[in-house]
Amino acid sequence: MSKENFLEVRGLKKYFDAGRPALFSRESRFVHAVDDVSFNLRRSEVIALVGESGCGKSTLSLLLMGLEEPTEGTISFEGRDITHLNDKERKGLRRKIQMIFQDPYESLNPTQTIEEIINEPLLVHGIAPDKSERDERVKKAMEDAGLKPAEVYLYRFPHELSGGQRQRVVIAAALVLEPEILLADEPVSMLDVSIRAEIINLLAELRITRQIAVIFITHDLGSVGFFADRVAVMYLGRIVEIGTMLEVLEKPQHPYTKALLSVIPVPNPRLRRERIILQGETPNPIDVPSGCRFHPRCPVAISTCKHSDPPSITLSKTHQASCLLLVK
Ligand code: SF4
Repeated sequence: MSKENFLEVRGLKKYFDAGRPALFSRESRFVHAVDDVSFNLRRSEVIALVGESGCGKSTLSLLLMGLEEPTEGTISFEGRDITHLNDKERKGLRRKIQMIFQDPYESLNPTQTIEEIINEPLLVHGIAPDKSERDERVKKAMEDAGLKPAEVYLYRFPHELSGGQRQRVVIAAALVLEPEILLADEPVSMLDVSIRAEIINLLAELRITRQIAVIFITHDLGSVGFFADRVAVMYLGRIVEIGTMLEVLEKPQHPYTKALLSVIPVPNPRLRRERIILQGETPNPIDVPSGCRFHPRCPVAISTCKHSDPPSITLSKTHQASCLLLVK
């Protein structure tokens, strides 16, 4: 297995049945939540998955976790097809791919101590039957997540901790299983601005110290600039541009990426970009526009864009070529 093929996603689709538009209609309509997504994740790589809310990035993470069944497409992990697994196989895999949710207030059981919360995944997965070994693992995970010394926090309850400390508990509960991939779904959006950088720094440290790959899902491209290796921009269920962070920040190709970047505040007024304000709302994912799905809002769209869709892309340069061909 090559380093490139650590996690491979090919042609992934998830359509949700939205029912019939009218009582006597014969055909159901479908929400195109994820619509032909392909990318790969390398070992200990950080990919930022960026897009507006409703673009499908959270559904994509649920598909990767096996919490939703794909409509079409494949997911491979370490060379093995994991698209459709039974419960037992899925449980084994979940140790390796862990998720960090947005809201540390809701993802922690308020009646459990921190020690019980972090110990629980070990009990569920039947890891380290010996209690002293489990205790060691719990303390190590807590200290790696920045809850040092662990003894200070072990017997506290979530309500006795700050928002940042709670998110560290969530991260420790994921780390205790020694995962290889962390799926972080807007992990800092509920935290105070002053705490956000701390949690992002922690994830940046973990990818080095524990060799963990991270898929960092966010609507805020500005928050991940310094630590992601690559960025994938999603629009209406599809990745419209993917490239290294430097490529995308300095030479964005897709008009949607350019619009997202143009509204990020920059500290140096000389570097201020022209703001691109997109017109209209994101279209309804039940009625995806014909041709290029971005055409109703694209500031450089031409009539061809209504009928022709640039081919599914995995590289910004490919998209640049296809998008520009269409525009010419
Ligand atoms: Fe804009 Fe047309 Fe390119 Fe789509 S294909 S992004 S509408 S220029």
